[in-house]
Amino acid sequence: MFRKYDLHSHTKFSDGEYSPCKLLQIAKNRGIYGLAITDHDTVDGIPEAIECAKSIKMEVIPGVELSTRLQGLEFHILGLFIDYQNIELLEFLNSLKNLRVERAKKIIENLQSLGIDISFDEVAEIAKNSPIGRPHIAQILVKKKIVTDFYQAFHKYLGDYAPANELKVELQIPDAIKLIHNSGGLAFLAHPGRIDKPILDEIIAFGLDGIEICHPSMGKAFTKRYTEITKTNNLLKSIGSDFHGGAKDDYDTMGKYFLAESDILYIKKKLKRKHSEKVA
Ligand code: AMP
Ligand code: MN
Ligand code: MN
Ligand code: MN
Repeated sequence: MFRKYDLHSHTKFSDGEYSPCKLLQIAKNRGIYGLAITDHDTVDGIPEAIECAKSIKMEVIPGVELSTRLQGLEFHILGLFIDYQNIELLEFLNSLKNLRVERAKKIIENLQSLGIDISFDEVAEIAKNSPIGRPHIAQILVKKKIVTDFYQAFHKYLGDYAPANELKVELQIPDAIKLIHNSGGLAFLAHPGRIDKPILDEIIAFGLDGIEICHPSMGKAFTKRYTEITKTNNLLKSIGSDFHGGAKDDYDTMGKYFLAESDILYIKKKLKRKHSEKVA
């Protein structure tokens, strides 16, 4: 049987629209068998996903997406096949969550000083217990008709170079990779897009395990480039929809970005080898 695996997705535990259960159901309906849950800075959605996957005969790959910074640029690192109960990982994610609250407060103050009527409480209500971020603030801006849509919210106010943005805590790539490795997982560079070769080489040298070669934000030329780079550097390949649902309006991506089961078995074999090398 041909099984499809999507290695990048978000639930409502970060900035996705759906509960882990609902997300798995949507993935299943689109022909996906294995789904990596890779919420930003949190693993809180994983227990529910694993429980739910049992009843609908799917496979969940525990993951997390960490934002890092190098030379003033933001890079996202996906931790896949992690032990989501690892204490070091959980403590670290908890400290990030607290820092995100402080940052969201600052962004909201920036918006207020631009004359926008918005409060921390209304954003916190949307974020609930998730690591609070710009997507939650964007949702309020859309809801209050301050902007026409999610993308305008980033363009006018929240984007990396837009007036209300505040930088997140600067997680270094080697630290992110170490954290992922210490929790038994593999570290992949997410949606690399246009990166200059020297920076990419630097990231690879930090001990990266693989690269997300195919993602909705990247055209075929990028996939070709990164496939070649994984080959030359003996890295693993990952593919994911990065599906969020809801305000991101990315429904057409689910089911279209996947690896075959044979690729997953290869990744699992490599992971097993890494684990046994660690013990030896
Ligand atoms: P944060 O973690 O709070 O910095 O928010 C990052 C998230 O905001 C990303 O994962 C995207 O979902 C979203 N985002 C960032 N920049 C943009 C943009 N220019 N347009 C749309 N969404 C964006
Ligand atoms: Mn997101
Ligand atoms: Mn990302
Ligand atoms: Mn993502």
